[in-house]
Amino acid sequence: THPVYGRIDGPIVMIGFGSIGKGTWPLIERHFEYDADKFVVIEPNADNHNFLKQHNIRFVPDAVTRDNYRELLGGMLERGRGFVVNLSVDTSSLDLMKFCREMEVPYIDTVVEPWDGFYFETESNAERTNYALRQKVRDEKAANPGGSTAVSCCGANPGMVSWFVKEALLMLAQDTGKDATAPSTREGWGKLMQSLGVKGVHIAERDTQARRLPRPRNVFVNTWSVEGFIAEGFQPAELGWGTHETWMPENAHSYDVGCQSAIWLERPGAITRVHTWCPTPGPQFGYLVTHNEAVSISDYYTVGAADAPEYRPTCHYAYHPCDDAVLSLHEMFGSGRQQVEHEILDVDEIVEGIDELGVLLYGHEKNALWFGSRLSNAETRKLAPYQNATGLQVTSAVLAGMVWALENPNAGIVETDEMDHARCLEVQRPYLGPVEGHYTDWTPLQDRWQHFPEDIDESDPWQFRNVLAS
Ligand code: NAD
Repeated sequence: THPVYGRIDGPIVMIGFGSIGKGTWPLIERHFEYDADKFVVIEPNADNHNFLKQHNIRFVPDAVTRDNYRELLGGMLERGRGFVVNLSVDTSSLDLMKFCREMEVPYIDTVVEPWDGFYFETESNAERTNYALRQKVRDEKAANPGGSTAVSCCGANPGMVSWFVKEALLMLAQDTGKDATAPSTREGWGKLMQSLGVKGVHIAERDTQARRLPRPRNVFVNTWSVEGFIAEGFQPAELGWGTHETWMPENAHSYDVGCQSAIWLERPGAITRVHTWCPTPGPQFGYLVTHNEAVSISDYYTVGAADAPEYRPTCHYAYHPCDDAVLSLHEMFGSGRQQVEHEILDVDEIVEGIDELGVLLYGHEKNALWFGSRLSNAETRKLAPYQNATGLQVTSAVLAGMVWALENPNAGIVETDEMDHARCLEVQRPYLGPVEGHYTDWTPLQDRWQHFPEDIDESDPWQFRNVLAS
C-alpha cells in the first residue's frame, strides 16, 4: 500500500518523456489522485511514443520551443489547477516557470535548462555557466517574490542532496555533542554549518551500475540523459568557493554580480578531476562537473554579506559516473567528437551495481562525514518500474517536490535548500535504499604518488588546492 499524498485537479502536463519522465510517471500514478485523461505528455522523440501508446498515456508529439511554448502550453493548462512537470532537455526552465506562475499552475523541474542551442552556441564561457543560468532564476524570484509555487532543480542532484546536507549537519551536531535541533531559518542553517567547522561539501557520487556487454566503441553510454551529461560536461567546471580557501587556480574566474558564491574554471568540468571519497570505493577520482547545487549550497550557507562573507563553504560535485560513461568521456574528449549513438543503461540489462550518491561534509572535528543513498539496481527493480537506480533517486525527489508544492502552493520560486527537508525526505526515503552516514579519516593528502611531488598544501588537508588533481 502506497500513500496517496493528495489530489491534483486539472491537467498534469509532463514535458519530456526520457529516462526520468518514464520513471516519474509511475510514481505520480501511485501517489496522487487525478483523472487519468488529464495526464498528458509533450514528447517530440518518436522512439518514446510506443511506450506512451502501449500505456494509454495521452501525448503531444511536439517539441516545446521558444516560439511555441505559450501557445502550446496555453492550450493545455487551466488557470490555478493541475501541474507542470518539466523533465526535458532544450527547454528554458525560466520561461516555462514564469508562464506557469502567470497561469498559477504549480511547476517543477530538475535543472535550470536553457533553450536549444545555448550550451554549444554561446561564445562566452562566463555566460555558459550554471551560475549565470541560476542567477537569472534567482533574479526572477527577487523581482517577483511569492506567488504560485515553482520548484527549481528538484532531482537527485541538484535536489535531494540539499536535503542530505541538512540531515548530515544534524547528525554531525548530534555526534559532536552539540545542539541538534533543526534551525528554522536560512541564517540558522548557515550558522549551524559554520559552528560545526564544516569547510566544504563534495557531492560525492560513485555509480557502479554495469551491464554484461562491454561498451561498444563510438557509443556514449550512461545511466541517465547522455545529452544532458554531455552538455554539462562541456560547461566550464564550477564550484562554490569557501572562505577557508587560501589559494585559487590560475584559470579561475569569480563574479561581482549576483550571489557571488561561486567561481568557474577555464576548462570543461568533465575532464577536470578531483580527489574525493565514497563508502564503497573509498578514495577515488571524481569529475568536477558543474551543477546548480554547487552554487546554491554555497550561497544558502553563506554567513554575512555576499561580497564579503564571514563564512561560506566550498561546494562542488565530485562525480564518478558508471564505468561505461567514464570510457565514453575519455573517447569523446580524446577524439574531439561527440558520439552520435547514445545509450542509457536499462534497468533490465544492468547486471550489477549501485548508485552511491551523497554529500561529504569535510574539515570539521570528525574530519569528514559522507551521508547519502546507496541504492542498488536490484533493489530499484523491486521498488518501482521503468528505471534504474540513478533514475529512481531523481524521480523520487520529483515526487517529494510535487508533494511539497501541493502542500505549499504559494511559496513562489524555491530551490530545494529552501524547502522543508524533513518532509521531503519522509516522502522520498522509501525509494532510496540504504540511507547512511559514514565517517572517514581520509583526506585529499592521502593516496598520492610519493615519487611525484605536487604543488599542494600539506599544512591544511582540505584546501581545494589538494582536492584538485594535477
Ligand atoms: P533524456 O535525454 O532521457 O530525456 C529528455 C527528453 O526530453 C527526451 O525524451 C527528449 O525527446 C525530450 N525533449 C527534447 N527536446 C524537447 C523539447 N524541446 N520539448 C519537449 N521535450 C523535449 O533525459 P533524462 O535522463 O530523462 O533527463 C531529463 C532532464 O532531467 C534533463 O534535463 C536532465 O539534465 C535532468 N536530470 C536531472 C537530474 C538531477 O538529479 N537533478 C538527474 C538526471 C537528469
